[in-house]
Amino acid sequence: MAESTTIRWDKDADGVVVLTLDDPNQGANTMNEAYARSMAATIDRLEAEKDSITGVIITSAKSTFFAGGDLNNLRAVTPEQAEEFATYLREAKGQLRRLETLGKPVVAAVNGTALGGGLEIALATHHRVVVDSSKIQLGFPEVSLGLLPGAGGVVRTVRMLGIVNALMQLLLQGKRVRPAKALEIGIVDELVASRDDLIPAAKKWIAAKGGGDPVQQPWDADKKYKIPGGTPSTPALAMNLPAFPANLKKQLKGANYPAPAAIMAAAIEGAQVDFDSAIEIEGRYFVSLATGQVAKNMIQAFFFDLQQVNGDRGRPAEIEPYRARKAVVLGAGMMGAAIAYVCAKAGIEVVLKDVSQEAADRGKGYSARLVEKAVSRGRSTQEKGDALLALITPTDDATAAAGADLVIEAVFEDPAVKAKVFAEIEPHLATNALLGSNTSTLPITELAEGVSRPADFIGLHFFSPVDKMPLLEIIKGEQTSDDALYRALDVAKQIKKTPIVVNDSRGFFTSRVIGTFINEGISMLTEGIPAPTIEQASSQAGYPAPVLQLSDELNLKLMRKIRVAAKEAGAIGSGWDDHPSEQVIDRMLDEFDRPGKLEGKGFYSYADGRRTGIWDGLRAAFPPVADPSSISLRDLEERMMFIESIETVKCVDEGVIPSIADANIGSIFGIGFPAWSGGVLQYINGYEGGLPGFVARARELAAAYGDRFEPPASLVERAERGEPYLD
Ligand code: NAD
Repeated sequence: MAESTTIRWDKDADGVVVLTLDDPNQGANTMNEAYARSMAATIDRLEAEKDSITGVIITSAKSTFFAGGDLNNLRAVTPEQAEEFATYLREAKGQLRRLETLGKPVVAAVNGTALGGGLEIALATHHRVVVDSSKIQLGFPEVSLGLLPGAGGVVRTVRMLGIVNALMQLLLQGKRVRPAKALEIGIVDELVASRDDLIPAAKKWIAAKGGGDPVQQPWDADKKYKIPGGTPSTPALAMNLPAFPANLKKQLKGANYPAPAAIMAAAIEGAQVDFDSAIEIEGRYFVSLATGQVAKNMIQAFFFDLQQVNGDRGRPAEIEPYRARKAVVLGAGMMGAAIAYVCAKAGIEVVLKDVSQEAADRGKGYSARLVEKAVSRGRSTQEKGDALLALITPTDDATAAAGADLVIEAVFEDPAVKAKVFAEIEPHLATNALLGSNTSTLPITELAEGVSRPADFIGLHFFSPVDKMPLLEIIKGEQTSDDALYRALDVAKQIKKTPIVVNDSRGFFTSRVIGTFINEGISMLTEGIPAPTIEQASSQAGYPAPVLQLSDELNLKLMRKIRVAAKEAGAIGSGWDDHPSEQVIDRMLDEFDRPGKLEGKGFYSYADGRRTGIWDGLRAAFPPVADPSSISLRDLEERMMFIESIETVKCVDEGVIPSIADANIGSIFGIGFPAWSGGVLQYINGYEGGLPGFVARARELAAAYGDRFEPPASLVERAERGEPYLD
């Protein structure tokens, strides 16, 4: 008999076996080979000693219950290994099936977070007891890695909750829920106050079952078992089902996300057949997702890259952890007001300063509105909301900044104004206060000349809306010290933002790269591509906002201002060179006076700040081609994505963005690069044919649309060496 190395076995005098998941080689239990071997041995033993067993409890010795699949393995599995992989998977699921059909009561005593595979183990028991702690999460995050719960998670939740509830509450959005919510949804049976109460509660449940009929899952116990809400042939459900895929497509705007569709198909098809066939169907969809490129991209970005981005970044031991206590936010406009909110939310005292008390008060009003919304929706309490607001002091008086250890400047994008506000505030600060600027385009090194301590000066570039966008782009100027950099990273952590670190350059990384996307989209108007087609192409590629809509929000005046400033400064890079988009921007501004959303007129028309439709003069201004069938949607989509990836390669070449993980995460979290691609550089790795495939296609696009698509030499060399973009 094989030996169990990761699952401990303890049997008490009443015949209850407690199985403790405890992988000695890892901080968390995962579905690795040692687990598979241990589980096989454990199940064999349970079956062999069944007559002397009255019940089984599964729990864990780690702080989490079980961490799920091993993503290293999943990332590596190739389409050629699909069969082998399916067999391996079948075995793992077979073990859980043997456990739930043992005939004895089996309880999951969930002591910590159970996501993905962890929750799947718990679902293969007859009763789930969970510690009621806000630190514990349950759920299926698989969809956000381009996968589905492939160890019975789809099949069991559909049988427990019904197709619609399983899809909406758990599977399609990858939501993580706290124990109380899990109880409400119906995937947890009992909550206990503390870890010490778990095993007694589990034993009590087993004792109550003692000596009765063999314990089975409802779907095994009763031949007439009906899935809640019915199967796809139940008339009420049958009527609504056809709309499901269409709604999903609408939600995804036609973009390339195979997992949600596979989850839906596995749920619906699986509901029409017996349990074991449903497990096979789920398995087939899982294997096809796991061996596909999108899952690899998403695992790379949302697990490995993210882990690295949030890691310690080689922090020297002598640099002490830093926690900001009092921040001054300079400028209470759109950005400053929202930055004040995220700081206060993290418990930092905030002085929100503008030129007048009135402007500062208006800025604080933004936080008041967010708090009110959170309280009214039950996401926060009045007490917490009041405490948050009490931390923000709006003022026009610089002396209010006394002793502050952090500055985040968000005044007008003008070097002279920025220098002035720093000069005014500096005398009041703590002696080593971190001096941050939220500029989106001005070089940090030049702005640092305006302060007395340039080593403490750093770019802290937020994204709008600040309370929702997860990224913080940290920009090192030439004189920025390591100490300032690590303090900035600590601030990011404190205010719960994901940081990327870049070197100083015009537009840094994010503004420079997003500029190429916008220019590319706008320039298509000069080629006679109808505006709705351009919008469709960007949505279908997977961008969260269509490109012309985004341009309106960013404002064409600002784009021209940035372009002019960049040219005057002799900045290089395709984003700043002459570009066919310029004539569109110039005509939109000079001929038609349509700068964007703020003025209520841009590529779209607006009424009361809301988009009413694409501007009806646009067709006359930029007449579409006579034959729309001549337009290649694939070309349009790939031009937008390729130009951003190529610009990123240039940023890597110039040392603007030293880390590949930062580039991938920064592009998805900051500037809406399609998430299915795994980010701007992973897109190159994962393109059909790998790097050589990307290079060949870039050359094709260059021949058809212009030199800006010519692959940089470093990319061509990498392709020749067969070396993907990985840190
Ligand atoms: P905004 O015009 O909404 O706000 C600027 C605020 O600064 C105004 O309230 C103004 O009264 C105040 N101000 C001007 N001079 C001041 C002074 N001397 N002392 C104190 N306050 C003063 O602008 P915004 O959109 O919030 O942008 C602010 C900064 O953030 C700019 O550098 C911009 O480039 C950058 N940024 C903007 C975005 C964005 O999406 N809007 C994103 C990232 C960064």
